[in-house]
Amino acid sequence: MNLVFLGPAGSGKGTQAKKLEADFGVVQISTGDLLRDAVRMGTELGQQADPLMKQGKLVPDDLVVGIIEERFQRGGLEKGFLLDGFPRTLPQAEALDGMLERNGLKIDKVLSLEVPEELLYERITGRRSCPKCGTVYHVSNAPPKRMGFCDVEGEPLVQRSDDSPEKLANRLEVFRTEIPKVKEHYARMGLLAEIHGVGTPDGIYTEIRKALGR
Ligand code: AMP
Repeated sequence: MNLVFLGPAGSGKGTQAKKLEADFGVVQISTGDLLRDAVRMGTELGQQADPLMKQGKLVPDDLVVGIIEERFQRGGLEKGFLLDGFPRTLPQAEALDGMLERNGLKIDKVLSLEVPEELLYERITGRRSCPKCGTVYHVSNAPPKRMGFCDVEGEPLVQRSDDSPEKLANRLEVFRTEIPKVKEHYARMGLLAEIHGVGTPDGIYTEIRKALGR
């Protein structure tokens, strides 16, 4: 099962991806995570991406397409993959079509998580994560047992530098401009499923499974 997840920051893509990974063995491929790794390791790609990411701007298509291509080449995707945060522009979607065709792969479904913007601000600005294990919390919706510290590692939690209200405004503006074209592309291919992304994580997951016919 090969899936694409579309949805703005805070729409719950990461949470739902974890559930799909656990149930179906699909591998989550998040361009945001891959780029943050590159920044941490100080690679050339990371150095190019860092200032753009800090401002909530898109990293150029060719760089992002390159990291996806590299990830496909590494393999281990026999049970399927779940693209999270890619494609974010129409040229990226078209590049993905070509890449999949060359590798004899196809997308089974494109899931678009639909969440009103006012909810995204609350979800994103309250988001905190563990720098060691990556577990994600929310200061009020999913707090750790001890405020400010990871339940698993005991590490002090951190906030992503682009999760501030100003940076988030940029990210949502970019999303509003680019994503409709991506959605139209997949709607034309008959692959798009729009999922109402408000409610409990389990309730939303039920909707996703319905859309997948599983
Ligand atoms: P995310 O973790 O998905 O919110 O991504 C964090 C940041 O990484 C974004 O704000 C962009 O700067 C960059 N990024 C992630 N995925 C892409 C993409 N497909 N195209 C361009 N930039 C991306």
